[in-house]
Amino acid sequence: MPEHPVLPSRSAASQVLVLPDEEANRRLVENVHPPDWINPEPASRYNLVVIGAGRAGLVAAAGAAGLGARVALVERHLMGGDCLNVGCVPSKTLLRSARAASDAADSARYGVETGEVAVDFGAVMVRLRAIRAGLSHHDSAERFRHLGVDVFIGEGRFAGRDLVDVASRRLRFRRAVIATGSRARSRPIEGLEDARYLTNETVFSLTERPGRLAVSGAGPLGCELAQAFQRLGTRVTLLEAGAHVLAREDPDAAAIVERALLDDGVRLEPGRRPPGRSPGSGDGRQGRARREIGPRTGR
Ligand SMILES: Cc1cc2nc3c(=O)[nH]c(=O)nc-3n(C[C@H](O)[C@H](O)[C@H](O)COP(=O)(O)OP(=O)(O)OC[C@H]3O[C@@H](n4cnc5c(N)ncnc54)[C@H](O)[C@@H]3O)c2cc1C
Repeated sequence: MPEHPVLPSRSAASQVLVLPDEEANRRLVENVHPPDWINPEPASRYNLVVIGAGRAGLVAAAGAAGLGARVALVERHLMGGDCLNVGCVPSKTLLRSARAASDAADSARYGVETGEVAVDFGAVMVRLRAIRAGLSHHDSAERFRHLGVDVFIGEGRFAGRDLVDVASRRLRFRRAVIATGSRARSRPIEGLEDARYLTNETVFSLTERPGRLAVSGAGPLGCELAQAFQRLGTRVTLLEAGAHVLAREDPDAAAIVERALLDDGVRLEPGRRPPGRSPGSGDGRQGRARREIGPRTGR
């Protein structure tokens, strides 16, 4: 999994590259990690410093600024966080294409003949990235500057009870919000490190359809990605430690989702656990590494 690129000390500069290197992704970066961004001169003291410009941090910063607070917002990678860049937006866009493919394949049931359905996976992903770029101005550094927020691009670190350091600047604050979110967690799966695998941080950069995909974890994110890829023509196996999908949901509701996945052709492998875990431990995932493993969505 690629780490976030290291940023130079004073401003954002041009280090962030979202793959593939194409117009839409450059437009995204222009908005949410502008290469030419110059961090502002810090105020003498902020009412609020927010670390992390994902959904939580953006709402906190915009809300406080709207109430007249002096606010600094610190982001080390892409404003918009997971939701815009590698979460809600790209995944729901992918699901829309998957639904179109499924409806077309199923259309004869409704008396509509479409002929053989062909999925252009590259075009699906181009659309996904174009929509993401098109929405990115909502979370942009420029927009938040106009909302009256001082936007600092760089890694935020606490330097004292009321101090945060970012990109060689020191921000003094009265209150701070830590909204640094989460990332996909690594699993002790035999052979995983040797296999090429994806996470939510890389799966939306695909340009070619994987022939086979093992998805580890049948929570909501695993289920939706499994269904989307299956409907787009990948042979998907869904690995789950528990007895069925959506273990935290009402069993009746989970059974409906499970039925839908099976109808789409997803192979379910419940009861897979990593080595050394007791059967009751619940959150483990196991599967011998296949040619492609991912995305691992456990958090
Ligand atoms: C595939 C997928 C699909 C999803 N679909 C949905 C959905 O349909 N609906 C829904 O409601 N939710 C969905 N989610 C969940 C949603 O994305 C998260 O709940 C949401 O992004 C959490 O927002 P956050 O602000 O808490 O954290 P994040 O979005 O993780 O933002 C945290 C930010 O903090 C930054 N940061 C971290 N450390 C530092 C530091 N030291 N200095 C500066 N910046 C830092 C990070 O770079 C990041 O930008 C989905 C998630 C995934 C992965």
